[in-house]
Amino acid sequence: MEKLNLLWIQGLTCGGNTQSLLCAEETLLNTFLKKVNLLVHPGLSLDEDLEKTVEAVLKGDVRLDILAVEGAVRERGKGLYTVLDMRFDEVLRKLCGVANYVIAVGNCAAYGNIPALKEGSVKGLQFRFTERGGFLGDGFRSKSGLPVINLTGCPVHPEWFISTVLQIASGRPPKLDSLGRPKEFYTYFTHDGCLRNQYYEWRVEAEVLGRKEGCLFYRFGCRGPMTRSSCNRILWNGVSSKTRSGQPCFGCTEFDFPRENIWETKYNMGIPAELPPGVSLRGYIMMSGVAKTFTPDRLRRRLLDEDD
Ligand code: SF4
Repeated sequence: MEKLNLLWIQGLTCGGNTQSLLCAEETLLNTFLKKVNLLVHPGLSLDEDLEKTVEAVLKGDVRLDILAVEGAVRERGKGLYTVLDMRFDEVLRKLCGVANYVIAVGNCAAYGNIPALKEGSVKGLQFRFTERGGFLGDGFRSKSGLPVINLTGCPVHPEWFISTVLQIASGRPPKLDSLGRPKEFYTYFTHDGCLRNQYYEWRVEAEVLGRKEGCLFYRFGCRGPMTRSSCNRILWNGVSSKTRSGQPCFGCTEFDFPRENIWETKYNMGIPAELPPGVSLRGYIMMSGVAKTFTPDRLRRRLLDEDD
């Protein structure tokens, strides 16, 4: 079967998604490279020539199966590079018009993220935070008929990206949720699969960051129960996640990221200001009273001795 042509282009980005892809597990990366012809990638293609490649794609000499965009877009943007004497946003719009699939790689390309915080003209491809539309407009569809596939995260997990590309290569593109994210990776919450679930349910707070005991929701602002991601289902580097290493999830796969005071839980009259979806105030008060009263002793102790 013919390989898919993939072009990876960068807008306003720190390059974190490129770095993340370079950390993919070797067997997965090798499978990816067997299925994909990387026309240009900032870290993986050997003889990249962005100008020549873009020219060939826009002339129709090279088929563009997947356009992967990393970074937010500044409309009529000053300060970004030009390609074929066109501004970055102009060339990007043309490339999106000829690509079979467009993938927003990471939260900046999807929703704007940090680069969009201060400037209204900086956008994600089809969103600007909670607003639909973004750079391409709400009605945009790539040649395949799909909207932009939003692979969110700051950065996105390399396996979510590679698996999405492999699904496209197998002729079964992903089903998307209402925010353009593949349901397979963004139906679950970060909370699902977290090893601290018992602490959450019995309302045992983590007392310090970096330890194995306690839930990080009650004091350290963990957004695991409100954030759709597979971080605790498909582990990072195959072994860990933020919450497993004792850090709160700060919601980087959601379209309202980034938020302020990310290591702090806000309270109104002793109740967390934001409760997980579907949890009523009354239910929370009742359950937390019961849970605190009957917490098993073992959840109050250290899991490992200091010197383990
Ligand atoms: S640390 Fe976060 S993800 Fe883990 S159980 Fe607590 S709230 Fe859920």
